Amino acid sequence: MKAIQLILRRFALLALALTAGSIRAFETVVIDPGHGGNDEGTEWRKVSEKDLTLSVARRLEKILHLNNIQTVLTRHCDSYISLDDRAEMANLIPQSLLLSIHFNGSRSPDINGFEIFAFRHSPTSRVIAESIQQSLAESLRSKNRGLHIDRDYAVLVRSASSAVLVECGFISNKAETARLASPEGQQRLAEALARGLMRIKPLINTDPPEADLAKCEIHAKKHEEDKRMAKAAEENAAPIKKVSSSGRKPPSKKKKSKTK
Ligand SMILES: [Zn+2]
Repeated sequence: MKAIQLILRRFALLALALTAGSIRAFETVVIDPGHGGNDEGTEWRKVSEKDLTLSVARRLEKILHLNNIQTVLTRHCDSYISLDDRAEMANLIPQSLLLSIHFNGSRSPDINGFEIFAFRHSPTSRVIAESIQQSLAESLRSKNRGLHIDRDYAVLVRSASSAVLVECGFISNKAETARLASPEGQQRLAEALARGLMRIKPLINTDPPEADLAKCEIHAKKHEEDKRMAKAAEENAAPIKKVSSSGRKPPSKKKKSKTK
């Protein structure tokens, strides 16, 4: 029964890929270890998300190389890289896909498990996410918290290639952290991620034009929102700047003559 379900699932993946325009296998995996530098990510009992993401990314890189898959890491050390720069790196590499690695944290110590995020308008992103979800479910002794398509994370929207973001587990959960912080646990996780990627390699990597259009629209809306917020912040800050230390209003600057 399980074997039939597996075959049906593979068939569903292939059918989804066939609807995703022309089919081309990806050549490079851009591995994005989340956070870095002064952006620590989640931190719990001296376990830091930025360190875990880098460690798993390096392990994943090695496994993919052994399987003749090219990789690019968005960071190699403990450095800060903006979300835009991470997406830009992937955009420079043709026939690539972007895998962003993260870990979760929660105030509720019992919450545990992994979850995957795909871009809702990208059939390819969903195919990759499903494959990784299945592989993690097979390999990890953690809860499968599902595949989500309701978050427009920057790396999903700003990368021209198909992208997936994986929250690999909760470092706020004692049992899960013990597993994730151990070399064996990190290796198992990296192998599961690699398996999920390699299974779909022959199937994909082109989205229909609507996916690119949706990315542009979301990006443009976010850009407008950022501009509005920056303007509002500037307007709020303006009166404070004008007050001198004596509390009196400083003399206003002379307006430049428009004719000169
Ligand atoms: Zn994170």
